[in-house]
Amino acid sequence: MNSPISTLLDKAVAGERLTPTEGLQLMQCRDLAALGRAADEVTRRLHPESFRTYNIDRNVNYTNICSAVCDFCAFFRSPKDPEGYILERDTLLEKIRETVELGGDQILLQGGMHPGLPITWYEQLLADIKYHFPQVNVHGFSPPEIHALTKVAKLPLEEILTRLKAAGLGSLPGGGAEILVDRVRKEITRGKCLTDDWLNVMRVWHQMGGRSTATMMFGHVETLEERVEHLERLRQLQDETGGFTAFICWTFQPDNTDMADIAPSGAFEYLRTQAVSRLYLNNFVNIQSSWVTQGQKIGQIAMLYGANDMGSLMIEENVVAEAGTVHHLSLDQIRQSIRDLGYIPRQRNVFYELIDEPETASEPLAVS
Ligand code: SF4
Repeated sequence: MNSPISTLLDKAVAGERLTPTEGLQLMQCRDLAALGRAADEVTRRLHPESFRTYNIDRNVNYTNICSAVCDFCAFFRSPKDPEGYILERDTLLEKIRETVELGGDQILLQGGMHPGLPITWYEQLLADIKYHFPQVNVHGFSPPEIHALTKVAKLPLEEILTRLKAAGLGSLPGGGAEILVDRVRKEITRGKCLTDDWLNVMRVWHQMGGRSTATMMFGHVETLEERVEHLERLRQLQDETGGFTAFICWTFQPDNTDMADIAPSGAFEYLRTQAVSRLYLNNFVNIQSSWVTQGQKIGQIAMLYGANDMGSLMIEENVVAEAGTVHHLSLDQIRQSIRDLGYIPRQRNVFYELIDEPETASEPLAVS
């Protein structure tokens, strides 16, 4: 028998763990205000401080060549496509230099799953970046890329991760998770790792002392039960390793993809799902708003629906841009969005350590 929604919300606010059945009940709940209020109470319990955070990084897509086919992806090119590219090393380093000049301390380095690049190419890439920019954290290679590299290199996962770490890899992004349920993955992707492999890349990386983010792209072919299953799998792995720094969710962006017939989810669905995620993932400390897909206003409101972080200034975001929906915010707009909610904006790194000076934290920066 279902419990009253208020009982479930009280339970989550008190820090108790929701069951998958209870998570589903909340995913079905249409009382958005009640979900938001509860999620915000949890956020304020976990983050009683007077500030809210953001970071500055750049999404560098080192190649768009990919051996997989994902129906939701407008970014990839097949290995023989003349539009396929591998970013010239000088171009890549120039992008990092620009990022550093804008105050960034990190790059999000992701690509398609190139079928021919050897492990030594990735090691040299990381070595070149760390040689020129030792202070920059490389948040790179999502689990599907790492998993594909084990196949190309014919080497065990542990060896791939150890070698990449030794070459300078700092942290892993949680991309390529979509929905961590094989039924869903098999329906929308071909040639991409399934759920257990995605989780295992993260598990091994965490066991090596590495940290990573976790994501969810929802609002396509998954059921609400499968959304909860995704959260449950992440929560279980977090219990096991504690290696996830943050969770980020966003709605599927259908334009220019093979799934363009699916109606995009709106703000209601986004805010509801994020709020339930905040309530369900009681072992995750940080939740990021996704203003890149939702726009400034909803991205800001998301900070009252369970998020404690505005995510990244995101100097470049090719993958979402190819799918037609991309929002641009200046650093000042991100900071003002936080101020307008009554919080002090603070810049953080990928490990959620504050890296700006508190006395200048509320001053707008001259960067756009
Ligand atoms: S989402 Fe990633 S794995 Fe899938 S086709 Fe696009 S680049 Fe390849």
